[in-house]
Amino acid sequence: MRRTIIRKITWGGMALALSVAACSTYRERPIYYPVEVPPPKPQHADRRAWTPVPKPEPRRTAPLARRLATKPRARYAPLRGVTIVVDAGHGGRDPGAAGVGPMPEEYVNLNVALHLARSLRARGAEVIMTRNSDRFISLDDRAAIADRTRADLFVSIHADAARRSSATGATIYIARNASRDSRRAARHIETAMNRAGVGCRGIRRAGFRVLVGHSRPAVLVECGFLTNPVEARRLGSPWYQARMAAIIAQGITNHFGR
Ligand SMILES: [Zn+2]
Repeated sequence: MRRTIIRKITWGGMALALSVAACSTYRERPIYYPVEVPPPKPQHADRRAWTPVPKPEPRRTAPLARRLATKPRARYAPLRGVTIVVDAGHGGRDPGAAGVGPMPEEYVNLNVALHLARSLRARGAEVIMTRNSDRFISLDDRAAIADRTRADLFVSIHADAARRSSATGATIYIARNASRDSRRAARHIETAMNRAGVGCRGIRRAGFRVLVGHSRPAVLVECGFLTNPVEARRLGSPWYQARMAAIIAQGITNHFGR
């Protein structure tokens, strides 16, 4: 009996000693609490960096003619060796068609023509513009440039007007006795317009001086109607002018078939 009591006490003592030891080792472990470090207070010298940076002055854009005059590098040059006269209709004292849009015809023509000239140059073509600013040039002078430069194609850029404001779409004109090359170029431009989803009213024949006053292949593109409010707004916007020029350039590239 006595022995069993002593044994129990001994076992109890050992268990107590073990639990104390366990507790003490547990307490010795460091406990990491998540600590929020407060952000350092800005010193006097740092305050400069905290002041808002003033907005940069808006860059002045050069006029379109100057921006597009830089000769682009022609890596892919399907039009190398091809001479094209790009004719922006009207200009100077001849403002062209009166429309309902924000931009008169002479400027629409000039902007599309400038974009077209750049696109064609980018594909390696030799491009001559009848005008690259707002100035008057007679129809005979324009036609003479086609003959003088022995152009492979003369492209005249215009925008249309009609009594009915509902009239829409681009139109491609060729001379009544148009050469095979003129007809083919017109067809390629028409196809490019249809592919791009631009409404095209087709190819028509006319006796415009810029088409019949010289001996070179020629087409005249009416890019849309300035008397239709929707088309007038589109034709006055830079992106649409660039797009129209890109479509015509694609048609011309396909025509020369390289
Ligand atoms: Zn016109």
